[in-house]
Amino acid sequence: HPSAPSLMMNAHFAGVGQDASREEYEHGIQVIDEDKLFNTNLATYLSLEKITPAGFNYHLISVFGSQSTGKSTLLNYLFGTQFGVMSEQERRQTTKGIWMSKNKREGADRGMADNILVMDVEGTDGRERGEDQDFERKSALFALATSEVLIVNIWEHQVGLYQGANMGLLKTVFEVNLQLFVKDNKNTPRSLLFFVIRDHLGTTPLANLQNTLIADLSKLWSTISKPKGLEQSRIDDYFDFAFVALPHKILQPEKFQQEVEKLGTRFREGYSDPRKSGLIDESSLPIFLPQYHRRIPADGFSVYAEGVWDQIVNNKDLDLPTQQELLAQFRCDEISREVLIAFDENITPLEDKQAEDARAGKPSVIPNLGAVMNAARFQILKDFETNASRYHKGVYTRKSAELASKVDSRLKALFQKQLSAAHKSGVENFSNAVAGAVKSGQKKGASYDFAQIVESEKKKALEKFAADAQAVVIEGAAWSTYQQETDLYKKELDVVSGRLRKDEMRRLATRVERWVRSRLDESIGLEFNKLGSGRGGSGAPEHGERPASEKDLWDRLWAIFTETVQDAERRFTDRARSFDASPEEVEVGLWRLRRKSWSVLRVKIDEEVMEGNILLKLRENFEDKFRYDDLGVPRIWRPTDDIEGLYTKARESTITLIPLLSRFRLSKTSAPPPLDAWIGDAPASVSPADEEDLTPIGGVDDDEGKSLEEEMTTISDAKQADLLVRFKKTADGVYVEAKRSAIGGMTQ
Ligand code: GDP
Ligand code: MG
Repeated sequence: HPSAPSLMMNAHFAGVGQDASREEYEHGIQVIDEDKLFNTNLATYLSLEKITPAGFNYHLISVFGSQSTGKSTLLNYLFGTQFGVMSEQERRQTTKGIWMSKNKREGADRGMADNILVMDVEGTDGRERGEDQDFERKSALFALATSEVLIVNIWEHQVGLYQGANMGLLKTVFEVNLQLFVKDNKNTPRSLLFFVIRDHLGTTPLANLQNTLIADLSKLWSTISKPKGLEQSRIDDYFDFAFVALPHKILQPEKFQQEVEKLGTRFREGYSDPRKSGLIDESSLPIFLPQYHRRIPADGFSVYAEGVWDQIVNNKDLDLPTQQELLAQFRCDEISREVLIAFDENITPLEDKQAEDARAGKPSVIPNLGAVMNAARFQILKDFETNASRYHKGVYTRKSAELASKVDSRLKALFQKQLSAAHKSGVENFSNAVAGAVKSGQKKGASYDFAQIVESEKKKALEKFAADAQAVVIEGAAWSTYQQETDLYKKELDVVSGRLRKDEMRRLATRVERWVRSRLDESIGLEFNKLGSGRGGSGAPEHGERPASEKDLWDRLWAIFTETVQDAERRFTDRARSFDASPEEVEVGLWRLRRKSWSVLRVKIDEEVMEGNILLKLRENFEDKFRYDDLGVPRIWRPTDDIEGLYTKARESTITLIPLLSRFRLSKTSAPPPLDAWIGDAPASVSPADEEDLTPIGGVDDDEGKSLEEEMTTISDAKQADLLVRFKKTADGVYVEAKRSAIGGMTQ
């Protein structure tokens, strides 16, 4: 596997756009100069000539031959090129290195193939060897590695001169060919050696010249040393041959012109090889056969050519399959970068938007994201395929997978962030929608169905999420599924529902507590008011006995209280069950309700026994006993009345109310009510939040350091003593007034 690419990669870029102009390339481009340097503007040239996007639809021809055999002249006639030609007067070498030009005579009317590129290779001079030979070998190698057709240009009088310069050149061609293709024998592309015999006099028929040449070539082939394993190979394993003869250009200019014109029509594509022998002997057969094509995509040609030349010029082993793999890697990477530009244009703003929203902490659901992602992914993979699939299959497949995974990792991030945004906003919307529906239900006053609200909002939320997720599914991407995310979303909706249900429970509890408060306010107040009447509600008390309203005050309060709370508990339970509160939640709710109700009662009692209230009640109670007779008729005091006796009796009776009111006790047991048992133990599922707002209750919450006895104490001892004093003063006042009125009544 090639690790360090020997391709000069920068060069490919450096060439593009540097003073590129058509005029500059009027004479084509000098691909290799006399110092054997590769021209990095080749890519620019190919691009200017619109070869670059041609794919495989181009052809490359090289022309070989001794110096001054009219090669450049021929090419210029054939292809309308402007290669430098020796002037008749000067007679010195003009073509240096290797020049390339595009066919200028292209056009459907001429029947020539599209995009023919011609390389004019510096000729060797048979008389001078040495340095020249090195270049000859290198340029032959370069031409063979790149060209489909090698034109060999020779004078007629050179045919049969086996020792001539041309034979040296052909020997070189054969040798380098073997060297080049020994590595990959199976896929060895064939080449066409197209002999153009110049200054054909016509006396010797072309067929004879052809036979002479073939005989010489076979002889030559047998003499060259062949690598191991290829000893038995035949010349036509690698080469096809074609021959054409042209008349003397100077002596027969019109005929020359005519024949060149005819020759031009052969530079067209043929689809199969009709010659079993491998010989082209028909004078009009097309010469571009598919098996000659080097299969280097046009947009990779300059890089490939540069890589090949680099290997050649540095005398490295030129291994074309490796060069093609390197080219494929380089071009696939380059194409990846190119196709990523359009992808970035579409995708980067979306990534930025997500990042920005993430910084701002808001869920970012991008509308139309799925369509954009799908289109971008489809386009980039298609563009990559279009351009890169022409290159080495293995490399292309690997690079295609690399690109897809790069693209997919970005799309996946977008996909997942979109899902998580849909998740976040969905949960938020769900929560808001439930709250909104509850609020509007409350506003209408009608009892709304919380469970139904939650269920229908949850259904909507799940549908929305599924639609949001489906909208970003990427066709053909196995990873773009959202089952797991849906499960997670569902779970969170359940968690949120639980929280909302808890809120609803709280609201319910508040409502029920308010109801308890208003009920107790009224009924407890009423019971205390009864104290104002010393005779109680049911006629006269037995002598010395306390009226029923006083004696069993606490029993009645306890009964009213527990019944009210029981009623409230029923309401609470029914309602909580309607929205699927768990038994544990209901249990906690009821426990809280009992505790809170007790606090309500306790506050209410405190209010009733406040100094002002209690004094007023004591006074009323006393006056009722003192100023009314047993039949409830107001007394008119007379001096004979036992005012003092009645006073003492009424006062003592009322005074006994003070200790009675000071402690919550049931008359049957003369013990406090079983508050702790009634409230019950805290349920196991109580959370700290459930206890947060609760008032401690003595005797129930042991750790509060307050006993049940203390909890049940409504008026302290000191307060009792104080009350007694003050009440007595009030009673004394009433007594004095009665005394006065008795005396006053007598004097009247
Ligand atoms: P190159 O060095 O092979 O490229 O040869 P050139 O195209 O520069 O031509 C060399 C000389 O040969 C020029 O003076 C041409 O005019 C002349 N020439 C070109 N074509 C022909 C031909 O067909 N016959 C003859 N005799 N001379 C030619
Ligand atoms: Mg020339």
